[in-house]
Amino acid sequence: MDQNYTAAALIGRGEFACACGKIHKASVKYALTQKNAANELAACVRRFGGTKAFVLADENTLAAAGEAALANLKENNIGYTLCLYPGKRMEPDERTVGRAALYYTGDCDIIITVGSGVLNDTGKIIAGMKNLPYICLATAPSMDGYASSTSSVIRDRLKVSVNSRCPDAVLADPAVLAAAPKRMLLAGLGDMLAKYVSVCEWRIGHIVTGEYYCEEVAKAVRAALKACMDGALGLLKKDETAAAAVMDGLIVSGVAADWAGVSRPVSGTEHYFSHIWDMRAAAMGTSCDLHGIQCAIGTLKTLKGYGVLKRLLKEGYTPEAFDKAAWLKELAAYMGSAGETMLKNAETCDLYNPEKQRARQKNVRERLPEIMEIIETELPAYDEIYALLQTLGAPLGPEDIGIPESETAVCFKATKDIRDKYILSSLAYDLGCLNRIAAEI
Ligand SMILES: [Zn+2]
Ligand SMILES: [Zn+2]
Repeated sequence: MDQNYTAAALIGRGEFACACGKIHKASVKYALTQKNAANELAACVRRFGGTKAFVLADENTLAAAGEAALANLKENNIGYTLCLYPGKRMEPDERTVGRAALYYTGDCDIIITVGSGVLNDTGKIIAGMKNLPYICLATAPSMDGYASSTSSVIRDRLKVSVNSRCPDAVLADPAVLAAAPKRMLLAGLGDMLAKYVSVCEWRIGHIVTGEYYCEEVAKAVRAALKACMDGALGLLKKDETAAAAVMDGLIVSGVAADWAGVSRPVSGTEHYFSHIWDMRAAAMGTSCDLHGIQCAIGTLKTLKGYGVLKRLLKEGYTPEAFDKAAWLKELAAYMGSAGETMLKNAETCDLYNPEKQRARQKNVRERLPEIMEIIETELPAYDEIYALLQTLGAPLGPEDIGIPESETAVCFKATKDIRDKYILSSLAYDLGCLNRIAAEI
């Protein structure tokens, strides 16, 4: 692992002026992944001025690390109120956040989550609402929300991202991480695999739309991803070093997004596949899975898509016409009530602005060799990632998580309509080969 780019090293850099012109600073102030991390909890509470903690956990995370955490608080005379969730799968909705709000007692001055995913998102929301410091004792390296200041929730059956508080500290014990359910470990790896695509698309976006880009941020993400890939097969044996590398990568991802001020370095087309599946599931009850599991499938689809694009550009093709009205009809039918924002976005977004499209197309034409070079250097081979995920026993396609493969084409085309982020589907749209790629992935 490149020691200059671990989570602790990045956080240790504090606030600094970067060559990209931005002042970079991470919201997360402390990250510690070490054996028996729960024993550091009371010291961490004191570090952030806490005297009584409001602790969120579910039955599984309580057993995994919560008991040790509460014992450590008790031994050190730090009181707490526990908000315990029953062991079933939690949804990040009004009910979950409401439970925390109702259990909260006014004398608590610090929020602690023992868990990951939905629990962490809930802890971040409560800490944000109460404006209190927040510590996450992570139990699984399953998603990259550990160091971010937004929470992904379902509100009125719509998946939305709400502002919340970034954890001030993230603690984790490699033994606890490695003992997490295999699917959660795979999800964490999936959320990291996504970074191949996100860094690649960020660079392409920089060329085509002139958007901000920082090589130092990209370097941090690449280093974290490499450490995860080096140990990936170790996840099969629930290797602690491998699990810790994924955890570190997920925190680095949060810091990278924070430094950049945008989610560009950590989320691209693959995240939009996942986002669409989540939105449809919330609105229509269709199938969905853990964020990172979906990201892994989305990464495979996206890598395949870039493969098709490379072939088309090499062999040549006749650019297709795009019927916007027909597409928006198809989009509305596919997304149902979850598609309202996307349809509204289509009225004003840069993607469908003819003048802006002409400017983008000019850039794409002039700098195509550079774009191809970026794709070539940033992206791994589809077969390599497919084989890795297959060896690990991870879901490999939408069908494996209950989503019909026949919907992949429309889902891919819809990824460009979520918001103004220049990704593979936007590039394919500008190049007039969107439908061709959609049909082949
Ligand atoms: Zn920078
Ligand atoms: Zn993610």
